[in-house]
Amino acid sequence: MGKIVDRIKQGKVLVSDGAWGTFLQQKGLKTGECPEEWNITHPEDVLDIAKSYIDAGADMIETNSFGGTRFKLGKFGLGEKVFNLNKAASEISRRAAGNKYVLGSVGPTGKILMMGDVTDEELYEAFKEQVRGLEAGGADAIMIETMSDLDEARIAISAARENTRLEVFCTMTFERTVSGEYRSMMGVSPTDMVQSLISEGAEIIGANCGNGITGMVDIVREIRKTNTEIPVLIHANAGMPVYREGETVFPEKPEETAAIVPQIIAAGANVIGGCCGTTPEHIYKIRDAVNKYR
Ligand SMILES: [Zn+2]
Repeated sequence: MGKIVDRIKQGKVLVSDGAWGTFLQQKGLKTGECPEEWNITHPEDVLDIAKSYIDAGADMIETNSFGGTRFKLGKFGLGEKVFNLNKAASEISRRAAGNKYVLGSVGPTGKILMMGDVTDEELYEAFKEQVRGLEAGGADAIMIETMSDLDEARIAISAARENTRLEVFCTMTFERTVSGEYRSMMGVSPTDMVQSLISEGAEIIGANCGNGITGMVDIVREIRKTNTEIPVLIHANAGMPVYREGETVFPEKPEETAAIVPQIIAAGANVIGGCCGTTPEHIYKIRDAVNKYR
């Protein structure tokens, strides 16, 4: 099958998957329930999500392990199950993926280094434990995502590089400021991110979540001003969430997302998928737009 980065170097634009969290909620995950526990209690529902993205034409799918560190799982009394829940997450996606790739999802710990919540070493150990579980279950790569603090992102990258043999990718989440620039919650710009993550050893970098796919075009352009070589991955939300009739809704329709795909490829993105609110239908339309791109 080869490495994902090698496929990109051959000039291929690859398609990734869509939302997991919002999809699990549709399948009945309640607020306050632990999503990763479903890898053991509801494996068929998790498998269904994974399969639906493969069926939609994704070249790679993630795992249900975004909150899979000891810090997050500990809140549900599952701190001793880190390895097993992450291993199960990879095994489920591996079953669905066939000859496609599995990206082991790693989200932020929720601890803030700058506030002294946690030390570098504690963060490193937490990521190490998680990525070992993901590798044991058969992931091809580690997808560190939704990062807003550069230091946490760098610690996660080094834990993944030093404790697995997998490819390591990292994306951060940027919001558009009133002056029209993009910054993470901790004030990091896409430009700040580029060199820092690459020097730590990330083989693909990019952005996920945030403001929807249109803003991602600007973010890719900003990354490309700093670096023309590094593969760039984008997982955009289905627009900005709006609150409607007591529910959070992501308004961007699959056709609307797909319509931006040519611009985002032209800006320099190499892997395109979705984040919150995107569905298999979004991925199907993105696949179609990538196939038609000239
Ligand atoms: Zn998201």
